[in-house]
Amino acid sequence: MKFPIEYNEPLFRPPSEALSLIFQITIGCSWNKCSFCEMYTSKKFTVKKEEDVIKEIIDYSNIDPDVRKVFLADGNVMVLSSSRLIRILTQLNESFPHLRRISAYAMPQDIIQKSKEELKELYESGLKLLYIGIESGDDELLNLINKGETFSTTVESINKAQEAGIQTSVMIINGLGGKKYSRQHSINSARVVNEIQPHYLSTLVLSYPLGLEHYKSRAGYDFEPLNKKELFEELKLFIENTNLTSTIFRSDHASNYLTLKGILSRDKEILVERLSLAINSPGKLYLRPEWARGL
Ligand code: SF4
Repeated sequence: MKFPIEYNEPLFRPPSEALSLIFQITIGCSWNKCSFCEMYTSKKFTVKKEEDVIKEIIDYSNIDPDVRKVFLADGNVMVLSSSRLIRILTQLNESFPHLRRISAYAMPQDIIQKSKEELKELYESGLKLLYIGIESGDDELLNLINKGETFSTTVESINKAQEAGIQTSVMIINGLGGKKYSRQHSINSARVVNEIQPHYLSTLVLSYPLGLEHYKSRAGYDFEPLNKKELFEELKLFIENTNLTSTIFRSDHASNYLTLKGILSRDKEILVERLSLAINSPGKLYLRPEWARGL
């Protein structure tokens, strides 16, 4: 029997969606201009036909109606109209009666376009979690990487989604600004997360899947990469400047040299101590070797 879902690869999902069923309702990223990102550069952004998506949902539910978690791919499905999204969410709920969570990647500008009422309706239709790559809270760096967002669009959009009940999981990229922008990247990234108080926060390390020289040629700035110690120093400064109440923090992506997990602010001192140890006595901690970073 043919698998009922047709994927257009490469297919990405957050690590925490490893057990989720993925429906791809858009192909690629509607923005696709961030200078550090190679995720969807091989794809032209298209919207999958709604009837094909609905058919895949129904066909899959005939095989396994017990699905609990669904992730909607690709890059930023929130670019679709709320009415279209709600029809898809409604079909998911009808087809999978035990469904607990639907999640997706999102860009701040797509969230801002939606009214408070639309966001509330999306939440009530099952959209419980949005993954948002903030990357940095520093406006100068956001402009240089061509993110198409600012500190204020990030804060406004995420607060708007959260007020509608939708949880957010946000990502900051350690090392994004290289040596020149490291300090302002740390401090302003802490400021932005303090303003939004996300449910989940993770950091990953900037990587160069097509090589450092290729990255430098795409970057819109004079980029000098941070070494391992400088990456730890940048992350330490970021955590020291956070003022969060109950955010689940993870720095355990394959790109990270050091695994860190905790709740901020509760575990702030412990995390800072581990980073101090990694900076001053790296031999006393397990640091992921280069070959294990999966890059
Ligand atoms: S919005 Fe996200 S997926 Fe799209 S280019 Fe930027 S980082 Fe990549």
